[in-house]
Amino acid sequence: MRVLIVEDESTLRLQLKERFEAEGYVVDAAADGEEALYFGREYPIDLAIVDLGLPKLSGIEVITAWRKEQRSFPVLILTAKARWQEKVEGLEAGADDYLVKPFHIEELIARTKALLRRAAGRSDSRIICGELQLDISSQRVTVAGNPVELTAYEYRVLEYLMLHAGEVVSKSDLTEHIYAEDQDRDSNVIEVFVGRLRKKLDAFGAGRFIATLRNRGYRLTVE
Ligand code: CA
Repeated sequence: MRVLIVEDESTLRLQLKERFEAEGYVVDAAADGEEALYFGREYPIDLAIVDLGLPKLSGIEVITAWRKEQRSFPVLILTAKARWQEKVEGLEAGADDYLVKPFHIEELIARTKALLRRAAGRSDSRIICGELQLDISSQRVTVAGNPVELTAYEYRVLEYLMLHAGEVVSKSDLTEHIYAEDQDRDSNVIEVFVGRLRKKLDAFGAGRFIATLRNRGYRLTVE
């Protein structure tokens, strides 16, 4: 795995480079925004760690340029504590995670690993049932390529039904899986969610895929 570290403070840059190398990563280190932009364009980077306050080009400008060029490797930003607006700007520019300075290197390494795992799983994150397709990582749903806009609950219902396609799923199963532990659960509401979900899918001719089985629950079947 190849990691790009962008940090203008030379002591920290060197410290991070050595530590990531010791972890077995291939490390490129850039000291300013222009260098960072160049490395991200020319090298097959798997992940970038970008300090936002940089000479020449800011971290935000660098990330924005990469994303505009469809460079999709995960980016973790480093920000100064007092400047919370930077976090928001960084995430909006396309960063995936952030860490506030000062931080523990252990934490940075743990976050890096998590981001790389997530990025690696991205290609396997789709569930396909006939023309119905759901992407777990981006939470996007399409029917024959047409995007379907779902609320968070509708999405969770569909995800669960698709993960159990062909099986009978009871209302209580669904209730357990779509609510977090601490939420007020109501199995009567499931009927409402399923009804709305079916209606939205029906706009693309896919509502019939969800069958209601009297007193038993639901089953997603795709011919
Ligand atoms: Ca800096």
